[in-house]
Amino acid sequence: MAGISRPRGTDDLLPERLAALEHAITVGTQVSSRYGYRRLQTPIFEASDLFVRGVGDATDVVRREMYTFEDRGGRSLTLRPEGTAPVVRAFWESELRQSPLPVRLSYSGPMFRYDRPGRGRYRQFHQFGVEVLGESEPELDAEVIAVAWRWLAELGVGGTSLQLNSIGDEACRPRYREALLQHFSSHLADLPELDRDRLARNPLRILDSKDPEMAPLLESAPRTTDYLCQDCVDAFDRVQEALRAYGIPYQLNPRLVRGLDYYQRTAFEVWHESLQGAQNSLFGGGRYDGLSEVLGYPKCPGVGFAAGLERVALLSRVAEPPPEPQIFALSADRAAAGAVIAVAEELRRSGLRVVADVGSRSLRGKMRTAERAGVDVVVIVGEAEMGQGAVTVRSLRAGTQESAAAAALLEAVGPLLTRSESGLGGVT
Ligand code: AMP
Repeated sequence: MAGISRPRGTDDLLPERLAALEHAITVGTQVSSRYGYRRLQTPIFEASDLFVRGVGDATDVVRREMYTFEDRGGRSLTLRPEGTAPVVRAFWESELRQSPLPVRLSYSGPMFRYDRPGRGRYRQFHQFGVEVLGESEPELDAEVIAVAWRWLAELGVGGTSLQLNSIGDEACRPRYREALLQHFSSHLADLPELDRDRLARNPLRILDSKDPEMAPLLESAPRTTDYLCQDCVDAFDRVQEALRAYGIPYQLNPRLVRGLDYYQRTAFEVWHESLQGAQNSLFGGGRYDGLSEVLGYPKCPGVGFAAGLERVALLSRVAEPPPEPQIFALSADRAAAGAVIAVAEELRRSGLRVVADVGSRSLRGKMRTAERAGVDVVVIVGEAEMGQGAVTVRSLRAGTQESAAAAALLEAVGPLLTRSESGLGGVT
């Protein structure tokens, strides 16, 4: 077909997948609310500086992946590549900053990265995330992990492993960075160009390299946990103790770093056995105590996670199918369109899902459409019945048909319905 196609790396979320995504959001919101988190929504675009500063101009996200444009007023705006910097900004710009700390928030919505599209990797994708702002207790790191873990459990997602690391803080990270530089500099000629570039700009990121040639060098690279200062060691111990209290198993992974610059101390990812290679991460998170100041606000510690909803929804086994219509209302007679609409509205007022077929096809054609839609009941408004204030109610399941007084329509239809009531999740 010669029509206009969707942009590369985007996807249309058709009803089934959208229902799965929204279900994941609904459950995430419910689970996190049990821990005291409240939902907020920030704009989809922000001042570009928010991400240049907040994410870091040495990161892949800022250097290569941002959708940045100038608006008609000459401002540089960026479609958000992630949700944490916007949440921190919203905290400072609103009354949230006066609320008792820590503030617990959750969010969901589309994110945009000019990434190389592939399996499970899009240029527009969706995330659900939580953030705790205003307190640096390591037990909070375990709390956000617990929210993530319970959320997956309620969605029926198994086969996951929690990868945990500490990447140090401003006191000990310089030493670690130095050790990394030394390790990789002696193999400079063997490094792929991208990784040479990373080494020059942000050595920690090199541990994220997915290049198979890098595997032996990564294996022998210094480990973050060998370079932690005492404060970071103590904090990491408390995170692990709290995780044990939550009963959450974890795997220490000293090679785990986060792609974003503002993380310090706890970094974690949840991996799934079915997701391969670079796409094996369901979500990532960590502590970002340095972010607020980088954005020009007062110091404000924070911790959170963001999950890729496309990936979570794909694995969740309990997604409800989108609710389908239960009833078709129709007439053989075009002139009865008004009566068909009125009958359908009457039924909808009782919460039923009704399609009003006011097309000009034959009665037989309309009946066939109703059958294909799989509805339980067809309400036929005929000229003869209309005159007597009645309609015909046909059960497609039982193959029976009866005349019902318009005033008693609900009583006639109710017992014939088999398609369950199911509400829609929140639309985001
Ligand atoms: P990040 O913000 O990079 O830590 O990503 C958090 C999560 O978002 C990842 O674990 C993925 O599940 C998801 N994610 C990140 N980038 C993409 C993408 N391009 N397409 C789909 N999901 C993504």
